[in-house]
Amino acid sequence: MVSHGKMVVISGPSGAGKSTVCRRILEDAKVQFSVSATTRAIRPGEIDGCDYHFLDKQTFRAKVAAGEFIEYASVHGNMYGTLRAPVQTALSAGRHVLLEIDVQGALQIKDQEIAGLYIFIAPPSFEELRRRLVGRGTEAPEVVERRLKKAEDEYRERVKYDAVVVNDKLEDCVAEVRALIGLEEGGV
Ligand code: 5GP
Repeated sequence: MVSHGKMVVISGPSGAGKSTVCRRILEDAKVQFSVSATTRAIRPGEIDGCDYHFLDKQTFRAKVAAGEFIEYASVHGNMYGTLRAPVQTALSAGRHVLLEIDVQGALQIKDQEIAGLYIFIAPPSFEELRRRLVGRGTEAPEVVERRLKKAEDEYRERVKYDAVVVNDKLEDCVAEVRALIGLEEGGV
């Protein structure tokens, strides 16, 4: 058991592979995923309350008004937000909490001077990022262009993070993030 939970905020451009990295970090029982709230539609295979709390716009707005979010932002046309209560509960129980959120949200938390570890997952290069986004084949060309533009904007903000980890080789990237959090080598 860890004595003090750490809030770990991970951001990075779409296609940098941050979800895969986060999944690997979450294999460690000492780390808990912060389930965000969102107004976007649920995707096949996702579970409400597990991947996200899927809310309608009105409910999301009510939670904003009630101050229930540490941060919230509009991402790709939908609202996303981190609920304060579960994060606080996990931290006070001594667990690390992992927030996989976009740059706007991460910087909102940082501006509130909330103690945390801010990690930016970067793609090896923008050519590689384009290749990954096109390779997914799930997005229309104009969506890929929009995401690349957003990725470039986000990339400029990396200097505000505690660490920038380049996701060139997944295993190296995971090991580096684990070390930053202070998780012991090789363990899960
Ligand atoms: P997706 O809809 O593909 O799961 O996520 C889209 C984007 O929203 C990702 O960049 C993800 O990091 C970001 N995101 C997910 N949850 C939150 C949140 O609670 N707050 C903010 N600001 N961004 C989030």
